[in-house]
Amino acid sequence: MPKAGIVTVVGKPNVGKSTLLNRIVGEKLSITSPKPQSTRDRVVGIRTTNHSQMIILDTPGLLNPRYALQEAMRTASLRALEEADVIIYVADASEGTPPPLTEAAGLEKVPKAPVVTALNKSDSLKGSVRDSLPESDFVLVSALNGDGIGELMAAVEQKLPESPFLYPEDEISTQPVRFFVGELVRETTLEQLHDEVPYSVAVQVEEFREDRSPLYIRAVIYVERDSQKAIIIGAKGAQIRRIGESARAKIEGFVDKPVYLDLWVKVLANWRKNANSLSRFGYQLATGKRK
Ligand code: GDP
Ligand code: MG
Repeated sequence: MPKAGIVTVVGKPNVGKSTLLNRIVGEKLSITSPKPQSTRDRVVGIRTTNHSQMIILDTPGLLNPRYALQEAMRTASLRALEEADVIIYVADASEGTPPPLTEAAGLEKVPKAPVVTALNKSDSLKGSVRDSLPESDFVLVSALNGDGIGELMAAVEQKLPESPFLYPEDEISTQPVRFFVGELVRETTLEQLHDEVPYSVAVQVEEFREDRSPLYIRAVIYVERDSQKAIIIGAKGAQIRRIGESARAKIEGFVDKPVYLDLWVKVLANWRKNANSLSRFGYQLATGKRK
């Protein structure tokens, strides 16, 4: 019997989650589109081997205090944890063993899925720090150079339930990539604008054409007010150009191809208070209980 299930990745910003996702997804795996369903927008990749399939979910901002107030996003991330068959908890090895996930993410109860702790950036670890790590339950990895990734995958696979594959191996689409691209644009916008347009930013990828080089992506940054639009565009468009350049570099790192990013800003008044707009941007509301 093959093994298959949902693997949810969680960790603080900058610990290397994206790099790890890339590594896991990039190595064996084609990015595959699931059939439309509730988890769809959070699937960032599917890793299929001969005998196992991992459907990998991201938890945007769950351990990032900056996003803590964004309820719909936290709800989506908590759901990704609830749905998990296995959780990969990523932390920076140079910071020693991380606090328990329940504490770090402010969870009300311990997640029911087994947690595999990946201590990342082993390549930059000094010998003395390495020796002082306790002999406990974690896998030392380097998402950057691939060290320990095989071991990590084996640890996760071992905990996956026996199940037929959940998605066809050959169905390839850009949907998960689109989601990730949107997140990268949003992240870049927040990075560059700090607290000026706090939680009013949503990003929608409207066009994604892989049939040309550079790959063509048209994305719209939605804000709630004209004043926010003006801030994002900046004097003579300088700000949006900076956002575009930085986001494009990140996207190229993710898709590993040259990218043309066509970036727009639009006002959608009070979108955060509007259930239709929230669901359009892929947020699920706490009230819309699943199953
Ligand atoms: P995220 O915020 O958790 O998604 O982290 P990123 O994947 O964006 O990585 C944050 C930074 O850490 C980037 O500069 C990465 O290049 C770097 N990084 C990620 N993984 C490793 C690793 O295994 N070793 C080293 N030395 N750097 C890493
Ligand atoms: Mg990231």
